Amino acid sequence: MSELTGNRTRTTAGKLGLPHLAETINEFARRADEAKMGYLDFLDLVLSEELAVRDDRRFRQGLRLSRLPHHKTLDEYDFSFQPDLDPRKVKDLATLSFVEAKANAALLGPPGVGKTHIAVALAVAACRAGYSVYFTSLDDMVRNLKAAEAAGRLANKLGTYLRPGVLVVDEVGYEILERGEANLVFQVISKRYEKGSIILTSNKTFSEWGQVFGDEVLATAILDRLLHHCDVISINGPSYRLKNRLKAIERDADVA
Ligand code: ADP
Ligand code: MG
Repeated sequence: MSELTGNRTRTTAGKLGLPHLAETINEFARRADEAKMGYLDFLDLVLSEELAVRDDRRFRQGLRLSRLPHHKTLDEYDFSFQPDLDPRKVKDLATLSFVEAKANAALLGPPGVGKTHIAVALAVAACRAGYSVYFTSLDDMVRNLKAAEAAGRLANKLGTYLRPGVLVVDEVGYEILERGEANLVFQVISKRYEKGSIILTSNKTFSEWGQVFGDEVLATAILDRLLHHCDVISINGPSYRLKNRLKAIERDADVA
């Protein structure tokens, strides 16, 4: 390849928004020469690498915007530690057909059983598949919406929770809400209904939501929208956090 052609291809690739090709044109040409590649194979190589680089960049950018607390995956989840949890149920969710259907998923159970871990793993998978993702605790969401409401910017702030394809609402039930706060949650849930997925985690059973939201009627209205299309996974087992703590304590005791 002449230098002139190389330079022109680099410039054209840049203008076409193909930065990977622009950066690696010489390397591509060398590989094509070495492998005595056919024209179609060469084109296939260039385009598929460009697409892979673009997908990867979009995935990493999506993760940054998602505010996920970490990026754990299902491979890192030890199902043998929760024998009562059917792995197939979780793996079914990981196919993301519920996200495609704009349905919801709820993970219920006591602290430390891996509700947030699984919710995050599903969110990472959704992000990789190209869905926009946003993570919040229920309390942070309520606090932000209240502040926006007081500043007359509620509609704008609601957008943060309505736009993403997947909204993860973590830790429903840790704090009891006032009526106005519960109303803000209702707005998010009802506006997302059949428009975008929610993955939520809660340490409370649905029958306790009346207490969480301080109002049975409002709690029922929220649950009505949420549960119409929702996979519910209850994890009723030991705390993984405690497992590691207990081991550490036993180790310290052995040393002493
Ligand atoms: P929860 O949200 O139910 O309180 P987390 O998802 O925060 O629990 O889990 C607590 C910690 O234990 C996290 O670091 C998580 O990755 C880990 N963990 C929980 N369950 C498992 C498991 N079965 N296998 C591997 N790690 C787990
Ligand atoms: Mg949690």
